Amino acid sequence: MTATVHVVGAGVAGLSCAVRLARAGRRVAVHEAAGQAGGRCRSFHDATLDRLIDNGNHLLMSGNRAVRGYLEDIGSADSLIGPVPAEYPFLDLQSGLRWVVRPNAGPFPWWIFSAGRRVPDTRAWDYLRGLRLAWAGRETTVAACLGTDEALFRRFWEPLTVAVLNTSAADGAASLMWPMIAQTFGRGEAACRPLVARRGLSDSFIDPALAFLDRNACPSRFNHRLRSLRFESDRVAGLDFGGDPVAVAPGDCVVLAVPPAGAAALVPGIVAPATSRAIVNGHFRLATRREDLGFLGLVGGTCQWLFVRGDIASVTVSAADALADQPSAAIAGRFWADVTRALGLGDAPLPPHRIVKEKRATFAQTPEEVARRPGTRTAWRNLYLAGDWTDTGLPATIEGAVRSGRAAADAVLATLSFA
Ligand SMILES: Cc1cc2nc3c(=O)[nH]c(=O)nc-3n(C[C@H](O)[C@H](O)[C@H](O)COP(=O)(O)OP(=O)(O)OC[C@H]3O[C@@H](n4cnc5c(N)ncnc54)[C@H](O)[C@@H]3O)c2cc1C
Repeated sequence: MTATVHVVGAGVAGLSCAVRLARAGRRVAVHEAAGQAGGRCRSFHDATLDRLIDNGNHLLMSGNRAVRGYLEDIGSADSLIGPVPAEYPFLDLQSGLRWVVRPNAGPFPWWIFSAGRRVPDTRAWDYLRGLRLAWAGRETTVAACLGTDEALFRRFWEPLTVAVLNTSAADGAASLMWPMIAQTFGRGEAACRPLVARRGLSDSFIDPALAFLDRNACPSRFNHRLRSLRFESDRVAGLDFGGDPVAVAPGDCVVLAVPPAGAAALVPGIVAPATSRAIVNGHFRLATRREDLGFLGLVGGTCQWLFVRGDIASVTVSAADALADQPSAAIAGRFWADVTRALGLGDAPLPPHRIVKEKRATFAQTPEEVARRPGTRTAWRNLYLAGDWTDTGLPATIEGAVRSGRAAADAVLATLSFA
C-alpha cells in the first residue's frame, strides 16, 4: 500500500513540505484548521477598503533561495517584484532627511565607501563593525554585539533587526542576523533586491501551491483542526480531528506544521519557543493611485515601513506588543500622521482604513527563545516538525518557513526510502 504523508497546517511551511513531497510522487493529505490556507501569510478582501489586502506587508529578498525554489515549483516565480538594481529608500520622519541605500554588484561592498550610496552621517569603517555578527555568541544580542551609539545603528541596524527578527535590537539574537546578512547583502546587489508580491501574498505563495497539490491528487481539507495525536510505542498511530479520527498506518508519516504553542500542546515533551512578538499593519485607501512608490523605510516616527500598491498605502510596525494593546482608532491616527508626512499629503483627513494586529506574528527571537527551537525530527519515528519557529538557523521569515517545510519533506523521504 502506498504510504500517506499527513501534513497538518497549510501555512507556507506546510505547503512547501506538501509540494516537495508531491513532486517526489508521494501521496499527501493536508489538514488545515482555518477555513483557508496561508496562516500568517495570506490575503483577504477587506469590505471597508473594498480591496484585496495582505494580513501584513511581507518583504522578501532576491537572495531568499528557498523561496525562489518554492515559487518555481508552484509556477509563480515571476510573481515577486522589486527595484533593479537593489535600492532601499529611507525617510527620517523627524528631520525630513531622505536617503537611499544602494548596494553594488559583486560581493565586495564598495557601496559603503560611497557617501551617496550609504546611510548619511556614517563612515565606511562603521559598517565593518557588522562583521562582528559573524562571530556573535549564542547569548549575544544585536545591540550588545554592534553597540548602539552611531547613526548607523539608528538608521540601519535597528530598523533591519526589527524587520528581520520582529524583536528589538536590544533583545534580538545576533546569531540569527549573520545568516541573513551573508545570504543577501553579503552576496552583492543581485542577492539583496527587495521583493514584494505583485498581486498579494495568497496570489504568490498560497493559491498556486493549492492548485499544484490539487493537480497532483493531494487533497487539502479546511476547517480540519487536529485535536490530538494517538501514540503507539515509538510512532504516531492516529490523528483526531474532533470526532473524525484518521488512522496512521505503519508506513505513514505526519508532519506537524503548526505554530509553536499548538505543537507543544499536541506533542508531549516538545521544547519550543514560548513567547511571541506582535506586528501591527495599517492599510489606508488613498484618494488617488500612487504608482511612483514601492516601499519606503521610515525612522523617527511610529511606522517602520510604508508600502504603496495602487491606491492602498500600508504601513508596518514590528516588535509592536505595546502598540498592539492600543485601540485601533488611536493606532490609525498615529499611522496616518506618518503616512501623510511620508507621501506629502498635508493635512488630508483620515481615509477608509483597516488596522490588522497579529499578536503572535513570530516567536520572540531572543537568544533564550532561539535556544528552544527544536529540530525537524521528534522522539516518534514517523512524526516531523516544520514551521518558521523550528531550528532552521534562520530568522522566522518566509525563507525560514520554506526551508523548514523542505527539511521536513526531505526527512520524510529519507525515512520512506528505507521503509
Ligand atoms: C504581520 C506579519 C508580517 C510579516 N512580515 C514578514 C516579512 O516581511 N518577510 C518575511 O519573510 N516574513 C514575514 N512574516 C513572517 C511569515 O509570515 C512567517 O514566517 C510564515 O508565514 C510562517 O509560516 P508557517 O507555515 O511556519 O506558520 P503559519 O503561517 O502560522 O502556519 C501554520 C498553519 O497551521 C494551522 N494550524 C494551527 N493549528 C492547527 C491544528 N491543530 N490543526 C490544523 N492546522 C492548524 C494554522 O491555521 C496555520 O494555517 C510576517 C508575519 C506576519 C504575521
